[in-house]
Amino acid sequence: MTPARWNATDAYLQEVFGAEDEALKRLRLEAAKAGLPDISIGPVVGRFLKMLTAMSRGLLALEVGTLGGYSALWIARGLRPLGRLITIESEPRHADFAERQFSAAGMGNRVHLRRGAALEVLPRLAAELPPASVDLVFLDADKREYPDYWKMLRPLVAPGGLVVMDNSLGSGDWWIDTPGPASREAADRANRMIAADGDFEAVSLPVRQGVLVARRKG
Ligand code: SAH
Ligand code: MG
Repeated sequence: MTPARWNATDAYLQEVFGAEDEALKRLRLEAAKAGLPDISIGPVVGRFLKMLTAMSRGLLALEVGTLGGYSALWIARGLRPLGRLITIESEPRHADFAERQFSAAGMGNRVHLRRGAALEVLPRLAAELPPASVDLVFLDADKREYPDYWKMLRPLVAPGGLVVMDNSLGSGDWWIDTPGPASREAADRANRMIAADGDFEAVSLPVRQGVLVARRKG
């Protein structure tokens, strides 16, 4: 695909599949006003996340990398009525903003934010949560740590559970076809590790900056 065709395709996807409700729109506007980095997923990947959550058992979801809570709200919309989402964020300013948004959207009791570095929080969660209890995981924090997130999360994923990894093919400053950057190397390692994992079926889709979806067999 030429760059022009890629951009036109992305614009088409936004136009046709990119509808979002007022709460999500407002969150994006307020995040921009608050000066949060403009690196969240968009409505197309958001809708995909909501659908995947709804197609899973939808009782317990886990996100790594909250930012302002945009992707978290999409995931929360896909949960069953008693489902909950745990989302991890290391930057206090992002965590404060996101918690206000969860309350404003009436999701304060269903979305639980854990503050701290993912590599420290994940082992604590692994000790707290029953093994194989998580129905959907969304990875979107430090790309260089993707292989470590995968190793830590893997035992937590329920049979039939899904792992979604954002930026599996690229980000603002690297793309998967150009070796070199540490984030690119780590995303590549994570893609290959997950693809080779016999307990999962996985594929990276070229939507936006690449979205990997893996499903635990059984
Ligand atoms: N998922 C969000 C975007 C996340 S951007 C959305 O699409 O709406 C990545 C976020 O991960 C940032 O807020 C950043 O502060 C956070 N982050 C980066 N490294 C982290 C780490 N090691 N542990 C926890 N959070 C981290
Ligand atoms: Mg991302």
